[in-house]
Amino acid sequence: MKSPTIQTLIISVFLFTIQTSLASPPTLGSVFTQCIIGLKPSNPCSPIQNFTYTPQNPKFLIILNNYVRNLRYFNNTTRKPIAIVAAADVTHIQATITCAKKLSLQLRIRSGGHDYDGLSYLSTVDFVVLDMFNLRSIEFGRKLDTAWVQSGATLGEIYYGVANKSNDLRGFPAGICPGLGAGGHFSDAKIVDAKGRVLDRTSMGEDLFWALRGGGAASFCVVLAWKIKLVPVPEKVTVFNVEAVGKRGGVNTKELVVKWQEIADKIDNSLFIRLTLSTSNKTVKASFMGMFLGDSSRLLEIMTKEFPELGLNKTECIEMKWIESVLFWLSIPPGTAPTSVMLNRIPQKQIYLKRKSDYVQKPISRTGLDAIFKVLLENENVTMAWNPYGGRMSEIPSTETAFPHRAGNKFKIQYAANWFVPGEEVAKECMSQTERVFEAMTPYVSKNPREAFLNYRDVDIGTSLNSTYEEGKVYGVKYFKNNFERLVSVKSRVDPDNFFRYEQSIPVPSSH
Ligand SMILES: Cc1cc2nc3c(=O)[nH]c(=O)nc-3n(C[C@H](O)[C@H](O)[C@H](O)COP(=O)(O)OP(=O)(O)OC[C@H]3O[C@@H](n4cnc5c(N)ncnc54)[C@H](O)[C@@H]3O)c2cc1C
Repeated sequence: MKSPTIQTLIISVFLFTIQTSLASPPTLGSVFTQCIIGLKPSNPCSPIQNFTYTPQNPKFLIILNNYVRNLRYFNNTTRKPIAIVAAADVTHIQATITCAKKLSLQLRIRSGGHDYDGLSYLSTVDFVVLDMFNLRSIEFGRKLDTAWVQSGATLGEIYYGVANKSNDLRGFPAGICPGLGAGGHFSDAKIVDAKGRVLDRTSMGEDLFWALRGGGAASFCVVLAWKIKLVPVPEKVTVFNVEAVGKRGGVNTKELVVKWQEIADKIDNSLFIRLTLSTSNKTVKASFMGMFLGDSSRLLEIMTKEFPELGLNKTECIEMKWIESVLFWLSIPPGTAPTSVMLNRIPQKQIYLKRKSDYVQKPISRTGLDAIFKVLLENENVTMAWNPYGGRMSEIPSTETAFPHRAGNKFKIQYAANWFVPGEEVAKECMSQTERVFEAMTPYVSKNPREAFLNYRDVDIGTSLNSTYEEGKVYGVKYFKNNFERLVSVKSRVDPDNFFRYEQSIPVPSSH
């Protein structure tokens, strides 16, 4: 081979210099990627760059949108992360924390992506999404009374796995939607803290473990896995869903709602009856959806004694396995789908939505119900789900975990507006209808503070733009009541530099 002449060398150097000077500056995404690749030791079996997606990667939008569960944020206008790390092991989480800190990027942690206001994948400043969907293993204890569940496992995967493993004799009580990220009855946790250390319950300390249960983990750390307690379930449970449009069996809807308020939080601990109020043909519809941990004969005995006005009859009661009841709560008619549908991670139908929440401590009077029915008829896109409290919920002291809404609450309200078509006008109308119903409910719900449920994320109750204590307190006392100050003190111990911050995170005290 001929060796290059001095002229060709000079020309090459000249061209290289021009090329480099014309090349655009590296993007923040590529600087972040270089940072995480550069960290040692990286895992040679699963190199982090194979799990990192910047906007230049053709899969970036697919990965981002795969776990967006509110179409309001499925668009070109919301700010996108500079990178997504779909962590496949703990070193990926540690590298993400280190480099996000180094480059002053905010971190958003996402498991199932069901945050109603999208706070696990949105930000107004440069940010990285740490996506946990690859970390989804479930390992059962020998006696099948516990399981270690990685944070990216969905509730459907947990329910299905628990029922299969235990021959339908164990269950795990949590949310209805099987696509949600894991959560619930925790007896231990593995986390990665702001310094990148992997800690368990003993090494993190009881105060942080206390905060994680109901205080919103994203303010403190990345949760790698939860150890959950499994509970025995009977071979058969009984479910029902009956409706009153105007009246049912001669009793009008309002009287049924009055009676439901009297009994729902006090009835047998094995029976849960959710009341949903909506409208149908200019009439208020009340749906009573229930589940009883036992057979239909015993359920009917209880209902005849405690709630005869509903007139529940044998043909309306359906006995099934606990695992099948998961589909019933999703309104899938019994026998029409295999239980394995709860393993689907991508929902069949995506929706635009807005949610808000409230707590009710005193029964709402008949006059109050008249006013509420009127406002629902004027705002037909809004439904209200009234979920009874009482039972085990009120036996646990409000300071035992960071979740504070215990004794004294009769029920929790979820306000829901769903819509299916894009466009600002329809979105604006549905959002203002929700706001109007929420406003009209003011006289009947908790006050000072007007309490809210963290899982029903609602940015209207306050957000922190400058990460100050004063801003954080506005939404903090609504979500956490008297536990807020203790959460602030845990936060200042475990994350004094406020690395784990987002629009509704726990603030550090002003002096920090
Ligand atoms: C269709 C739908 C149905 C729902 N049904 C119910 C229901 O039946 N009952 C109920 O109680 N709620 C329900 N919710 C609300 C839901 O429980 C909450 O939004 C819950 O936080 C979702 O968890 P996720 O992991 O899917 O969400 P994500 O959006 O991934 O996360 C929610 C919050 O948790 C943080 N987070 C996620 N993973 C981690 C982690 N590993 N470490 C630290 N922080 C983390 C996020 O940063 C964010 O702040 C529903 C929501 C939707 C959209």
